[in-house]
Formats: sequence, structure tokens, C-alpha cells
Amino acid sequence: MPRILDGTAIAAAIKQEVAEEVRQLVAHGIRPGLAAVLVGNVAASEIYVRSKVQTCADLGLFSELITPSADTTTEAMLDLVHGLNDRDDIDGILIQLPLPAQVDTKALLDAVDPDKDVDGFHPVNAGRLQAGRPALAPCTPAGILEILRRSNLPIAGQHAVVVGRSDIVGKPVAMLLLHENATVTICHSKTRDLPAVTREADILVAAIGRPGFITAEMVKPGATVIDVGINRITTQAEFDRYFAGNAKREAAFAKRGSTIVGDVHPQAFEVAGAYTPVPGGVGPLTIAMLMANTVRAARMRRGLPQRSA
Ligand code: NDP
Repeated sequence: MPRILDGTAIAAAIKQEVAEEVRQLVAHGIRPGLAAVLVGNVAASEIYVRSKVQTCADLGLFSELITPSADTTTEAMLDLVHGLNDRDDIDGILIQLPLPAQVDTKALLDAVDPDKDVDGFHPVNAGRLQAGRPALAPCTPAGILEILRRSNLPIAGQHAVVVGRSDIVGKPVAMLLLHENATVTICHSKTRDLPAVTREADILVAAIGRPGFITAEMVKPGATVIDVGINRITTQAEFDRYFAGNAKREAAFAKRGSTIVGDVHPQAFEVAGAYTPVPGGVGPLTIAMLMANTVRAARMRRGLPQRSA
């Protein structure tokens, strides 16, 4: 039986550690603070941002939710970001994506002070990460590394295959794995004979955005499979493709009219030695690492050593 890597439990442990760190900082007069910027009213973004703000409250961080209207402009958003860069009570700035089409997303992300860039999206942090300097690493990739480390799964010397090369998941997770001495292959939509490459993976990371894309034949028996994908499915035909015979899922699907499937087909998990389920695998780590990054940023900005240092 493959081992299930319980992201919810790992995220809970990290959050507990962050809460303890926050208590210690508060005792020294420092309360790490996160500004969350949510533009307009995209339902999914609202859910994500509200749970980030709630987690700040749970762990003792200061947070401020800023909600510009959907018709905001690049100029107004740049003013907002510059103001947050200058505020001493704000250690981290989170701009929830996607932004409305009229806002220049790149200009805005580039305007965030790299030392407050808790999403790790600023080119300066991408560069620091590549150069192996202390940086604010993107949350989901950093969370994947925490899952592997805290599950005592070996990374050094392993062949890690990352499918997906986005700036927010694929590239940074590949870089983090490389720094941990994995031999890393990055695949994308132009990769030739993808199954032959993925079958070589001791650690297979799927960050593609296509439901059930990685099938059992693409996985080396015993591999560690990290499924980053979050894909909502709504039709019975799709449901049957992934979850036929799964009574528990069927009941939930019937009740809600939708369910989530990752980028890995559930049957492929059965070939793995260990895997992250969807939901309950990588997802919970993203918020936990955002909290950890905010505390890290608070320390960095004040020249304090990091907890692990
Ligand atoms: P992007 O759409 O930015 O990137 C997808 C990548 O997959 C691209 O590099 C693309 O290649 C590659 N790809 C697409 N089709 C194929 C194919 N047929 N064969 C090989 N590679 C392919 O997605 P993200 O990186 O932002 O997200 C990936 C998934 O992770 C999504 O499901 C997203 O919802 C999820 N996600 C989950 C998070 C979490 O908290 N758990 C956080 C962030 C994302 P190319 O570059 O050639 O186009």
C-alpha cells in the first residue's frame, strides 16, 4: 500500500511552530503583519484570501484586508503597493491573483518591495532562489519541500521530474529540489515522450493544471508522487473517469455537484510508494508557508536571525 502524505497534518505542525514564533516575537514588541489585497469579487479568490486572513488571526499575526473595486487602475494599485511598502507594521504583501485585465499584473508584482514579497513572485526573489541566497521562496514549492523533508523522504541523489514550468510552481520547485541535491528534469508541453521521462522519476511533481493527466503507466513503481493540481470537475462523465467505484467521493459529489481532482489520475497513486492526495496534500501547505514567509520577512527586515539559523 502506498504511503499517503498527509499535507493537512504537516501544515498544522508548521502553523503551530509559526504561532509559537509569533508569540516570541510579540513578547519582544514585534507582531508580524500581512496585507492581503483582494481586487473585485472573484468568488474563488475571496475564499482563498479570507482563509489567509483568518489563519493570520489564528496564529497571532496582524493582518489587513484591502479590497479595491474591480474597476481599479494600474496607477491606483501601484499607489496602494507603494504605501504598503512604506508601512512599518506590514511585513508581507500578498496580491491575490488573477487581477482584472486592465491592471498590469507584472508591473504590480514588480512594485512590491522584495523584502515584503511573501509570495516569492518578485524577480529579485526568483534570482535569489536561483543563486541559492536566502530568499522568500514561493509558498507552494516551499510547502512541497516541507512535505518531503518532514516525511523523511530522501531528496539528495534522487531523480526528480517536475512536469510544469510555471514561475509560481514548476520552476521554483525544480530549483529547490536542485538545491537539495536532487537530479532534476523539468518537463513541459513540448517535452518529447513525456511518459518515458516521468517513468524515470524517483520523485514526480505534477504541476500541469490538467485533471488526471499523469496516468499509472507514467509512474515508476514505488516513486514519490507530488500532485499539485487543483481541478474542479462537475460532470458525471468526468467523475466516473477518475472516481468510478469510490462510494465516499460519489456521495460528496452528489451532494455538492462538484469535486476536486489533481493532475494525477487516482489509479496512478496505487503504483506510487508515497503520494500527496487531492485534496489534503499540497494545498494546505500553501497557506502555512505564507504564514511562515511573513514571519521570515518580519525577521529579515529587522536583521534578526531566522529560527532555524
Ligand atoms: P500553469 O498553467 O501556469 O503551468 C502549467 C504547466 O504545465 C506549463 O508549464 C505547461 O507547459 C505544462 N503543461 C501543460 N500541458 C502539458 C502537457 N500536455 N504536457 C506537459 N506539460 C504540460 O499552471 P500552474 O503552475 O500555475 O499550476 C499548475 C497546477 O497547480 C494547477 O492545477 C493549479 O491549480 C495548481 N496549483 C495549486 C496550488 C496549491 O496550492 N496546491 C498553487 C498553485 C497552483 P508549457 O509551459 O509548455 O505551456
